[in-house]
Amino acid sequence: MKAVAPTGPVQANPVKKSESRTALVRRARRINRELAEVYPYAHPELDFENPFQLVLATVLSAQTTDLRVNQTTPALFAKYPTPEDLAAANPEEVEEILRPTGFFRAKTRSVIGLSKALVEQFGGEVPGRLEDLVKLPGVGRKTAFVVLGNAFGRPGITVDTHFQRLVRRWQWTEQTEPEKIEAAVGALFPKSDWTMLSHHVIFHGRRICHARKPACGACPIAPLCPAYGEGETDPEKAKKLLKYEKGGFPGQRLKPPQAYLDAGGKPAPPLEAG
Ligand code: SF4
Repeated sequence: MKAVAPTGPVQANPVKKSESRTALVRRARRINRELAEVYPYAHPELDFENPFQLVLATVLSAQTTDLRVNQTTPALFAKYPTPEDLAAANPEEVEEILRPTGFFRAKTRSVIGLSKALVEQFGGEVPGRLEDLVKLPGVGRKTAFVVLGNAFGRPGITVDTHFQRLVRRWQWTEQTEPEKIEAAVGALFPKSDWTMLSHHVIFHGRRICHARKPACGACPIAPLCPAYGEGETDPEKAKKLLKYEKGGFPGQRLKPPQAYLDAGGKPAPPLEAG
């Protein structure tokens, strides 16, 4: 039976303490399938046109929104289109551009440092291997998986703050360290699902299953969620908590690529979708 958005009170905590491994795998995959229907257009929310731009944008996205990064990167990419340009940049000028993203001095050091490393160690190209990416200044496993999954088509699980919160609420794992969460959740899904699973979970965390006030009463996977009731369960009040296109507002990307646009050139689905 297909899970549907609740229209009234939902039975709380449908997950038994003794849930078997097989039942957990089934429930986890079913949540991912439902989320795929809710967010068929899920994608990275950072604007980028090549792997270098994606790695820079991902580093800059720490402690800020993707929207803020998307508002900042056009000036950065225009002034420093290649790793060679940014490696030779005056740090003060880069800091001025990056100021709106917060922690701009540290981020300036990272983006100049990683550009130098790209030039000196990788011939000015972003490497397509995890072990090389994580050696770049400012690039951890999370950034590396975003780059591998979205610029190189290599499956990866992105354990960011949304992912950690949601998989805990769904009781997919009791692990608390990102690397262990990544392994535990990875084991529930085929590798080919990992990148889209990450997008679905992060989209859901940003739009519906918020940190402080999850919109449980407007959540399409409520019947599958052991944490139903942690947030607002009244459907009308919950609807008001929805964000981005689910709340009738724009998304985070300023320049969504053609693949994410409908025939009329608008982000799919229509921004006013409820
Ligand atoms: S919004 Fe509520 S019901 Fe939906 S996934 Fe989050 S905690 Fe569960």
